[in-house]
Amino acid sequence: MRKLRLYNTETRKKETLQPHDGTRTVRIYSCGPTLYQQAHIGNMRAYVFADTLNRTLRLFDYRPKHVINFTDVGHLTDDADAGEDKVEKQAKQENMDAKTITKKNGKIFLADLKKLHIATKRYRFPWATQHIQEQIAIVRELEKKGYTYEIDDGVYFDTQAYRSYGKLGLSAVDEKTSQARVQEVAGKKHFCDFALWKKTPAGVSRQQEWDSPWGRGFPGWHIECSAMAMKILGETIDIHTGGVDHITVHHNNEIAQSEAMTEKPFAKIWMHTAFLTVQNEKLSKSLGNTYTIADLEDRGFDPVALRLLFLQSSYRTPASFSFESLGAAQTALDRLRRDYERIPRPVTSLLQRSRDRRYTDAIDKAIANDLNTPQVLAVMHDIIKDTTLAPAVKRNTVRYADQVLGILGSKKKKRQNVPAAVLQLAKERDVARSQKAYDKADAIRKEIDDLGYDVADTETGTSVTKRVSV
Ligand code: AMP
Ligand code: ZN
Repeated sequence: MRKLRLYNTETRKKETLQPHDGTRTVRIYSCGPTLYQQAHIGNMRAYVFADTLNRTLRLFDYRPKHVINFTDVGHLTDDADAGEDKVEKQAKQENMDAKTITKKNGKIFLADLKKLHIATKRYRFPWATQHIQEQIAIVRELEKKGYTYEIDDGVYFDTQAYRSYGKLGLSAVDEKTSQARVQEVAGKKHFCDFALWKKTPAGVSRQQEWDSPWGRGFPGWHIECSAMAMKILGETIDIHTGGVDHITVHHNNEIAQSEAMTEKPFAKIWMHTAFLTVQNEKLSKSLGNTYTIADLEDRGFDPVALRLLFLQSSYRTPASFSFESLGAAQTALDRLRRDYERIPRPVTSLLQRSRDRRYTDAIDKAIANDLNTPQVLAVMHDIIKDTTLAPAVKRNTVRYADQVLGILGSKKKKRQNVPAAVLQLAKERDVARSQKAYDKADAIRKEIDDLGYDVADTETGTSVTKRVSV
């Protein structure tokens, strides 16, 4: 059985994946986008990584059960429970309905994923606002177990009452900052404590608020992820992913509240994508560098070029975005697709599924080593350059690499390139050849040729490719 080694932020080493229920099902939760704005290309790095993980699991005969949530309430502008809810703030600024904003951005997000060759049907996308009761139920349970305290601002998780808080490592915070964080919310006991439920202050009304045992209000961002993960995937999941910015606060908080409630491990492997920067700056609106997929398309790029750009480095290496590097990725993508298209297409064959074992082993080895996509790309180039492979084998082996990379395009589309009439002629030619009717076979070859298709005799029979003008 092929083994998959993945880097676990919690243990700081690569570990062999072993689904906790002993089956081939792998339960994954990837923190989803906060829908106050359109997701930017930095966010997309986190989802191209999640998709690479999903594809790799499938390649290794696992069955991923994969959730990417929609955060449509509760994510504050400040991690220290102060500041406003991002969605509420945006709605006020735009003088719009919060739901209209989140629905619109959710829809764009799904369309963007598809443009990046992320098959959305392989994921579940739950909305935080549709799981309010589940979140309240967890907070009540934590309250019963003595892990919470209630103050005017809301219900807080008491990190001092929970011994193993900070499993993923805490960020160094100096005395002054920690004091300031406590003081930001009256009654907060420790700077690590975090809101499970925020109360709507008297005299204020919010667009998105719900009744709860602690009064009207809204859930904290962290509890949303625990609630949706546990509801859909169960109390223990196999892999949890997010960007590195989530490690010290969001994910430590998810672990604390989930494990305090269930007394079981919450996630076995924690995986985090390094940040995408632009000229060493954080992607931020004020710097005008938060490009979206639409921005890239407006400049004439195929979003898959961005996917390729991400795959050219390890997901754990910080990457810097520039239009020059995207341009280079676009050129490389165009070349790869063209080279692939030029490999003659087998039509009738017993060997249609055969691949070159040396290369597939090399691909398995690379991807099994904590998703080494740059190495898989290198192998893909080697296959394309290899002149000793039979075309059918070559195509299939390139396609095998692409099951993980997802850059070439869909099979369906490619097949449509060869019309049924041409495929029929190729079959007839194979029959003629098998009957040693070579004159007939030659006549058919000419017919195919006249239709604009190149004919090649391969081990697997007649292969036809649309003639490319160079
Ligand atoms: P958010 O919408 O802020 O909740 O983020 C959605 C996902 O994108 C999270 O997993 C973040 O960690 C991740 N993320 C945000 N900005 C970046 C970035 N510049 N590079 C990589 N990942 C990011
Ligand atoms: Zn989350």
